[in-house]
Amino acid sequence: MSISDNLKAFKMELDPIGVTLVAVSKTKPEELIREAYDAGQRDFGENIVQEMVAKQPLLPADIRWHMVGHLQTNKVKYIAPFVHLIHSVDSLKLLKEINKQALKNERVIDCLFQVHIADEDTKFGFSHEELVEVLRSEEFGQLKNVRIRGLMGIATHTDNQNHVKEDFYELATLFKGIKQVYFRRSADFKELSMGMTQDYKLAIEQGSTMVRIGSAIFGGR
Ligand SMILES: *Cc1c(COP(=O)(O)O)cnc(C)c1O
Repeated sequence: MSISDNLKAFKMELDPIGVTLVAVSKTKPEELIREAYDAGQRDFGENIVQEMVAKQPLLPADIRWHMVGHLQTNKVKYIAPFVHLIHSVDSLKLLKEINKQALKNERVIDCLFQVHIADEDTKFGFSHEELVEVLRSEEFGQLKNVRIRGLMGIATHTDNQNHVKEDFYELATLFKGIKQVYFRRSADFKELSMGMTQDYKLAIEQGSTMVRIGSAIFGGR
């Protein structure tokens, strides 16, 4: 199967249900991204700032670049001029820096809060309590150059389908609760970024609006 065949299959599966496909192109060269672009794909995800910054100027300007990996505060400035959506906001300190760099670039940057749902300690993200604390804080209310579009999560890496399903259920439940309580009057908060190659079907069953797929499009890494 070629990249274009893979994308066609995803499009047929996802378009009718309104789920956005983010093609995760990390480690893949410019030529393969261009192949996906020529097949009509516009949303691409990267997890390392240097890699995204290196690829962005080589590729068409209408690509929407998604930062899906852990983002260090001191690197925000490099992607602030062009990034489309930051999926991995995991601290108020990081969000404040994104706000600052967005202001410098005279724009508003769309962000998702990453929530820790997996069992492993290694995955980044807010706990439920930490997230609520940020949402209630006065500082958060003052950030005018970031727009919170929803939540992101990574499920536990396991073959146990029930476990993965529970992780996604947990995030979807939190998403609904946060939306009702903190974003009741906002149409912006509507994205739930969950699901990768191995688990995207379960994620969609639990209400994902955005899946981040790498290997199933570009092949293994
Ligand atoms: C690499 C990566 C993906 C895509 O993973 P695949 O298993 O190749 O689909 C999705 N989300 C994040 C955060 C990633 O780092």
